[in-house]
Amino acid sequence: MAHKTEALFRDDAYLRTAEATVVAINERGGIILDRTIFYATSGGQPGDTGHIERGDGSRIAIAATITGETKDEIIHVPAPELATLQVGERVKLAIDWERRYLLMRMHAACHLLTVVCPFPITGAAVFEDDSRVDFDIPDASFTKEEVTAGMMDLVRADHPIFTRLISDGELGANPGLVKSKNVRPPVGTGKIRLVCIGENASVDSQPCGGTHVKSTGEIGEIHIGKIEKKGRENRRFRIRFGPMPVN
Ligand SMILES: [Zn+2]
Repeated sequence: MAHKTEALFRDDAYLRTAEATVVAINERGGIILDRTIFYATSGGQPGDTGHIERGDGSRIAIAATITGETKDEIIHVPAPELATLQVGERVKLAIDWERRYLLMRMHAACHLLTVVCPFPITGAAVFEDDSRVDFDIPDASFTKEEVTAGMMDLVRADHPIFTRLISDGELGANPGLVKSKNVRPPVGTGKIRLVCIGENASVDSQPCGGTHVKSTGEIGEIHIGKIEKKGRENRRFRIRFGPMPVN
């Protein structure tokens, strides 16, 4: 039976610590809690790492976080050492905040890229130092410099980033919200989480379950490191932190 973990990071991506209760340990040693601040790998964003602290102060390193039988079941994968947690035990959670914050900045930067390049998305992967978004672009007339300038205008404007829940019906009435070419947001659960940028979502809104910073200014300086051709109409844009290197 799959458990339903309360995903605290959905309402507050800035939680670095929290308390929780152990609900189950699965057959592979994965730890399932009633609630968590650990984001589980999905939507191109890698899961969190960090540790779980027991009542006696000992720590269990968490090497990865994944979803289980359903998207609502979050499994904390301990580092190889034997975890001896008991069901019902109260624990303290701490994520590797430096890593997560880089991922939040990068993930938000990916959204900005989809504003500057308004084309169907065919894939995306967020990493701490280099992220990529693939687009279906028939005419590849973009330059790294132009796209970087467009993204940095949005960063400097320091637009708010926030989430909003809409119904399946609202999404159906606004098909333009979905930018992904192959992946449709799950419908039938009643509510879809939109990530919005700008006052009244004036800059962008799209379905996303990931973690993002709360304003575009927090992303800081970024640039397009590379635009690669992947197939006839596919272009892969790589986002990196810092100013564009001078050649
Ligand atoms: Zn997102």
